[in-house]
Amino acid sequence: MSESKVRVRFAPSPTGPLHIGGVRTALYNYLFARNHGGKVILRIEDTDRNRYVPGAEEYIIESLAWCGIIFDEDSRKGGPYGPYRQSERRFMYRDYAIQLVKSGHAYYAFDSAEELDKMRSRLKSAEEHLTQYGPFTRMEMQNSLSLPAEEVKRRLDAGDPYVIRIRIPENETVRVNDLIRGEVLVQSNSLDDKVLYKSDGWPTYHLANIVDDHLMEITHVIRGEEWLPSAPLHVLLYRYLGWEKEMPQFAHLPLLLKPEGNGKLSKRDGDRLGFPVFPLQWKDPKSGEISSGYRESGYFPEAFVNMLALLGWNPGTEQEIFSKEELISQFSLERVGKHGSKFDPEKAKWFNHQYLTSKNDEELAGYLSEYLNSNGVTSSQNTLLKVIALIRERANLLPDLWNNSRFFFIPPDQYDEKVFHKIWKPETSALLKDFLSQVANIDVWEEDSLQGFIHTFIESHSAKMGQLMNPLRLLIVGTNMGPGIIDIALVIGKEEFLRRVSTGLEKLNYGK
Ligand code: GLU
Repeated sequence: MSESKVRVRFAPSPTGPLHIGGVRTALYNYLFARNHGGKVILRIEDTDRNRYVPGAEEYIIESLAWCGIIFDEDSRKGGPYGPYRQSERRFMYRDYAIQLVKSGHAYYAFDSAEELDKMRSRLKSAEEHLTQYGPFTRMEMQNSLSLPAEEVKRRLDAGDPYVIRIRIPENETVRVNDLIRGEVLVQSNSLDDKVLYKSDGWPTYHLANIVDDHLMEITHVIRGEEWLPSAPLHVLLYRYLGWEKEMPQFAHLPLLLKPEGNGKLSKRDGDRLGFPVFPLQWKDPKSGEISSGYRESGYFPEAFVNMLALLGWNPGTEQEIFSKEELISQFSLERVGKHGSKFDPEKAKWFNHQYLTSKNDEELAGYLSEYLNSNGVTSSQNTLLKVIALIRERANLLPDLWNNSRFFFIPPDQYDEKVFHKIWKPETSALLKDFLSQVANIDVWEEDSLQGFIHTFIESHSAKMGQLMNPLRLLIVGTNMGPGIIDIALVIGKEEFLRRVSTGLEKLNYGK
């Protein structure tokens, strides 16, 4: 494919861990760029020093790398449009703010925090519809539009603190063309004179974002819907800076919604319903609070990415499992819906299950052996393979491989009380003692012989299958879960089987 002009960027602010909605935005940028043979850039927007969280940038970079989202230009590998961290570009922005002041599209404002508060409460108590600094209030405030020119000069010369605000035009309809929502029209009177440049000498997000998208020759801005209200302001900035012709195209992605469907998916939903909302585990540097991540919960990055891709993008077919290459070749913004997508934690597990069960027994045995190692257990490859074959269909996440199989390697050290009370009848102990003494005589420990023996035993005791098998399972596994008892018996071997039954009988008989 010949080199295309498409250049997109993912522009996170390092204010905390990256939410899965943010990962999806990065993914769509990546897929769009690769689909068009263009470039995808990672730009760190760290101009808001009050919200800066140490470790967040590293977290974002590690998360995206885990997902296999590879950038062509970023703060580590550099590139022809660097630096890619806004704090390192800090001194470029002021000139653009001044340019806007000179052309009359921005102005100096000297209001103190108290004066701003006063203005807001005054407007609120007068029940004004708009309580913001804008076309209808600016002349009552302390700024270079309301104050005499000499006073402005005096204040600037004296080094009085000031911000630079955009001067929003009155009575104009601002048009935003959005690739997903179509044309969005906004009345300029509803917009406020946003601060572009702060008194601490840093640009705000709005100014830095527009300047950088322009200087980095970004062709498409693909970002979350929460930025749609800022888009009219951005359109005005492009116009006032004289860049309207090269303005990027906008695509605002619909929100990821709570599983119930009302409102934006939040960390609290994850805590409430027990699923991660972050790609990797995150430890809050201030509170020390730990939030779970998809990686640590045992998801494959490919499954995670596949699931995210389909939360908002619809391939137009029934296909659900997509390799990265398929996503790249099929992705298009035209097939991104206008409406939010409900996040479904069960579907997330389903995706992982599909990826897990597409791996062969050897690969899965490799994962299981890591759990064995960290639990100080050893086993033969042959046993691992047998275990995997028995449990693979019921595993969704990687830890399930261990949690659903630990009893193959470690005898139970306790027995599920609830199950015990439910299944242990007055005659159970005697039945199992008899079973134990007879099963010890089996010479050939194989499926057929075990099955045959059990049938004869049941018949000769006029018992039901469950009367023997349920207590037996409790003694072997410790609870009422797991594959068939005969399968387990064959894997753990005769000796271990007999040991578990007799130990269990002793504990349950005499311990109670
Ligand atoms: N820094 C903004 C964020 O944190 C970027 C928004 C945009 O893509 O324009 O999401």
